[in-house]
Amino acid sequence: MVDENKILFERAKKVIPGGVNSPVRSFKSVGGSPYFVRNAEGPYVWDEEGNRYIDYVQSYGPMILGHSHPVVIEAINQAASLGTSYGAPTEKEIILAESIIERVKGIESIRFVNSGTEATMTALRLARGATKRSKIIKFSGCYHGHSDLLLAEAGSGVANQGISGSDGVPETAVSETMVVPFNEVPEMDQTIAAVIVEPVPANMGLVEPKENFLREIRSACDSAGVLLIFDEVITGFRLSSGGASNWYGVTPDLWCFGKIIGGGLPVGAFAGSQELMSFLAPDGGVYQAGTLSGNPLAMAAGQATLKLLGQSEYEYLEAIANRLVKGLEEVISSEGLVITTPKVGSLIGIFFSNEMPKNFEEVKPIAENGFYSNFFHGMLKRGVALAPGPYEVIFLSLAHTEKLIDQTIEIAAEVIKEISNS
Ligand SMILES: *Cc1c(COP(=O)(O)O)cnc(C)c1O
Repeated sequence: MVDENKILFERAKKVIPGGVNSPVRSFKSVGGSPYFVRNAEGPYVWDEEGNRYIDYVQSYGPMILGHSHPVVIEAINQAASLGTSYGAPTEKEIILAESIIERVKGIESIRFVNSGTEATMTALRLARGATKRSKIIKFSGCYHGHSDLLLAEAGSGVANQGISGSDGVPETAVSETMVVPFNEVPEMDQTIAAVIVEPVPANMGLVEPKENFLREIRSACDSAGVLLIFDEVITGFRLSSGGASNWYGVTPDLWCFGKIIGGGLPVGAFAGSQELMSFLAPDGGVYQAGTLSGNPLAMAAGQATLKLLGQSEYEYLEAIANRLVKGLEEVISSEGLVITTPKVGSLIGIFFSNEMPKNFEEVKPIAENGFYSNFFHGMLKRGVALAPGPYEVIFLSLAHTEKLIDQTIEIAAEVIKEISNS
């Protein structure tokens, strides 16, 4: 139906704040109104008007196999037929825990929660409980979900709304949170419980860690007895089976996961050594709980997803990422525009600039230069859905064929011509 998206958005706004259940979906930072998805399959989503898009959002990361993968859907259906939540432990939780421990070197114990937000929030509580210290360090532009103590200079989720923090977060909630620039090793002392970092920040566009940066943080943490937390909610099972920690050969004390490990269902997890994780209730005094935690459908979807990710799958993802980056750079520079496309594994960022930003301060003026929204709308009009915000990245899936990548590049060429002629 013509204008169905707009009609739905108006209807949504009457009953849901801003019409959306997560702010970036509102298109506020690129302008216009969002498409409402009716269904999705493989690399595509279809909106309520029947338009098909090649989807590079992929739910912001979870859908690494592509949408509606038959094996995942079958696993969900099978789990659902046995009941959807019990409030008692299940074997499915053990199976997914074992799968993750088998793949990520250094993890001995893992607890499942319902979102990445819960994972990082609880990992910090655990770090504070274990170290009996209270200060934490985060990097500007890194996003770790929306818990109070982490909503300071928090990258995409907040930056897309043009605000640096959040109303409703009292100063006391962030008074023990120190925010420092990414790619610079902060000073640390014995008052600091933990440093939390996205090993490859993917919520301020994509920013590559400088060589040895993560290793240097690791040794600075060791010297001061500070726990290192890798927020691998995006990088986990996307860069490699062992995530960013194995990719860079740097082992944190705690890991946070989400997105891919739920195969498209709500999930999060945090993990570490037996010793550290034993500070959690019921064994220890750090409390954490969840009515729906370890949900059998999410466990089944996550397990089905991880089982389909091996070395050759990661090689394929990286190959199409290289193809896309090379193509985009060619067509964009041939029109005399500048673009910089950082890439780590299959994660890709797009900056309309000839500078490669190293931290959030350098990202902001580029993200706000207005090019992204023009590019975004040009692509969307021609059937390619990028994330509706300049602080996001491109998410590829195994369902994106080389042909689709080439098609995307051709479409980008048209869009760039249009932009540079206007
Ligand atoms: C998405 C994300 C989170 C938050 O996860 P939610 O499931 O949205 O709460 C945390 N950290 C990073 C790095 C993320 O990308």
